[in-house]
Amino acid sequence: MSSVDARVAEFDLIARIRARVPGRGDVVLGIGDDAALLQPPPGMQLAVAMDTLNAGVHFPPETAPADIGWKALAVNLSDLAAMGAAPAWCTLSLSLPDGDAGFVDGFLDGFLQLAAQHEVALVGGDTTRGPLSVCVTAHGFVEPGTALRRDGARVGDDVWVSGTLGDAAGALAQWQAGQAIDAGLRLRLDRPTPRVALGCALRGIATACIDVSDGLLADLSHACTASGVGARIEVDALPASESLQACFSPEQRRILQAAGGDDYELCFTAPADAREAVLQASAAAGVPVRRIGRVDAALGVTACAADGSAWSAPAAGWIHFA
Ligand code: ADP
Ligand code: MG
Repeated sequence: MSSVDARVAEFDLIARIRARVPGRGDVVLGIGDDAALLQPPPGMQLAVAMDTLNAGVHFPPETAPADIGWKALAVNLSDLAAMGAAPAWCTLSLSLPDGDAGFVDGFLDGFLQLAAQHEVALVGGDTTRGPLSVCVTAHGFVEPGTALRRDGARVGDDVWVSGTLGDAAGALAQWQAGQAIDAGLRLRLDRPTPRVALGCALRGIATACIDVSDGLLADLSHACTASGVGARIEVDALPASESLQACFSPEQRRILQAAGGDDYELCFTAPADAREAVLQASAAAGVPVRRIGRVDAALGVTACAADGSAWSAPAAGWIHFA
């Protein structure tokens, strides 16, 4: 640390964080010591995920601090959801250009709002000076052998997706084109909903699962590669929000939905005889799901239009929105 004053400011910021963080029964010792002491339930496996958000890379620089706070936790809870793990704890590394208490207060508004929804305890972290960057780790529990991994998809499985796709990418496309950003799309970009209940409900049903952060085709191909299979999806079957339908042409929509990222929906596979179980899990979690394709033996992920013709995202898809 470069100066005594900066150190004091750091302690002050940590004190502000600590004062607002609620406890949890399994947090033996939270913020304030050299390390947190945590008590996992006996026999459970710990699922651990980490994601970093950098200003200008992962969110537009003018994003509200509360939205940054929400999203920093949401993307990590989404990773736990994609494993079928129930979230419990998190840690937070904050790199701030200056000791801006107002930023930290706003950041915590969004972060703690989402943490409260999932009863996740912030148990520690690090606070440093540097370019605006936020790194969160999230810890969750899953019974041994029940985690939703990427490598379990089998030939003949259905491919499913939760919620709607393309909204976050639609907001980014409008922002990059200098257009007014639709409020509904903007909300999905700034405040993604991690599908925690759905992920947990799909344990024992889904054969593979991944959250859609880089784009459906890219993320589904990660799961297919891990599973040693391929998949064919129908691009016109991808669920689209009313906002997306109102703001973009059908072809723009296909590109946003198949190749756009940041939706944090779950894409998963399940055997055809588990369709009823999938729909029950969806109803129990209160999150709609849609069947969008099929796992097959030919490697790679391909897409077709409603009439069966092959469809692929243009390599320079984003240029069309400028
Ligand atoms: P040390 O120098 O021993 O690492 P720190 O001064 O970095 O201690 O942190 C003091 C306490 O505050 C620790 O319990 C740490 O986990 C916690 N802490 C620091 N920064 C944050 C943060 N951004 N969010 C939550 N807890 C934090
Ligand atoms: Mg430290």
